[in-house]
Amino acid sequence: MATQQIAPAINAWDVAQRQFDLAAEHLKLSPGLRRVLREPKRELTVHFPVKMDDGSVRVFTGYRVQHNLGRGPAKGGIRYHQDVTLDEVKALAMWMTWKCAVVGIPFGGGKGGVIVDPKKLSQRELEGLTRRFATEISIIIGPEKDIPAPDVNTNSQTMAWIMDTYSMHVGYTCPAVVTGKPIPLGGSEGRNEATAQGAVYTIQDAARHLGMDLAKCRVAVQGYGNAGAIAAQLMFAEGSKIIAVSDSTGAIYKPDGFDPNSVLAWKQEHHTVVGFPGTKEMSNAELLEVDCDILIPAALENQITAANAGRVKARIIAEAANGPTTPEADEILYKNAKFVIPDILCNAGGVTVSYFEWVQDLDRDFWSIEQVNAKLRSIMTKAFASTLDMSLKERVNMRTAAYMLAVQRVADATSVRGLYP
Ligand code: NAD
Repeated sequence: MATQQIAPAINAWDVAQRQFDLAAEHLKLSPGLRRVLREPKRELTVHFPVKMDDGSVRVFTGYRVQHNLGRGPAKGGIRYHQDVTLDEVKALAMWMTWKCAVVGIPFGGGKGGVIVDPKKLSQRELEGLTRRFATEISIIIGPEKDIPAPDVNTNSQTMAWIMDTYSMHVGYTCPAVVTGKPIPLGGSEGRNEATAQGAVYTIQDAARHLGMDLAKCRVAVQGYGNAGAIAAQLMFAEGSKIIAVSDSTGAIYKPDGFDPNSVLAWKQEHHTVVGFPGTKEMSNAELLEVDCDILIPAALENQITAANAGRVKARIIAEAANGPTTPEADEILYKNAKFVIPDILCNAGGVTVSYFEWVQDLDRDFWSIEQVNAKLRSIMTKAFASTLDMSLKERVNMRTAAYMLAVQRVADATSVRGLYP
């Protein structure tokens, strides 16, 4: 089994700021607003001890960044990964600000991360790490202040531990402090699937715009976790052929397609997609260039760069992941008439249903899956249509169009609030 690590050599924060600068230039934002929106409002770094199973003590480093709170409390996931850096978390927090604004939900952008390979920790160690990290960042999180959610290598169990830890501190049960919780703790129907479901709604809209029939499309998916595996399952249900998928251990390929549900069962048993019967192994780099109609990056940042963008064959690139494409790659894809559904639009279904979960928790009133998906569909379709209109009107690519919509909304909120004191 080939193990590949795609270490992001490109700095995600640099990418995020360049994407913002481009939109600010198009919008002719004032220099003062540019300076304010270009930087995060708060960056918290914590070093905290955790007792390991063998009795030793290890010190871990984690971050919580709040980029902009102009439109509401900060919202964004917590990532556990050995390559987490403060710059990466800053970029992810800034992207959350724009994402919430694109879909018009009343949150600002936040993000968190801990430098750890969670696969090397026992469940008890992971719980200890999570509870201590939650305690360290509890000085800035809260249902009215900053509401974390799952991201890479965190899940509903992680959120349950954070919710319980925060509730123990304040002395009452506080479900609205995190989203992506298990349903019995005040989680929302549809939250687990929301990122992928929202992405598939945008793919449907893009296919309609481009005159493509999803039932005839071949799909490749990079990353087989919450976003990627569920996106593959939903595209399969649309009638598309899933021809290649990957995870951190490698990629599998079969030109006439396979059942992604069986691949998930295989991965759950073998902890890898590689070796799934009837498929050929390929590298993650090859997967990005495979002959397909729709490519769904659903892993990490900086996967499509100037080095490989020219060889991407897919007509639609649907960014379920955050930051998978660099600005140089964007230009190449646009020149090659590729239709990119940018991350801040494509994967906004996750934060949208997180918003629904927060509203339900605060109201103590819970919705059916049909209600959740109908509201999600309506928000995603509206955001897609506004982005496409902007892109056609301003003759810019879909990313710059989405940024222009989002940055303008945040700039308006910031201006009308005024500069304190
Ligand atoms: P996850 O931990 O559930 O899954 C990540 C997957 O990516 C795993 O299958 C992992 O093996 C794979 N992976 C890791 N490194 C890889 C590499 N180098 N090459 C190929 N695959 C690799 O995480 P997730 O929640 O699905 O998040 C994936 C992406 O989606 C991230 O960019 C995240 O920020 C974004 N996202 C997630 C949500 C959410 O609600 N979970 C919402 C919006 C955006």
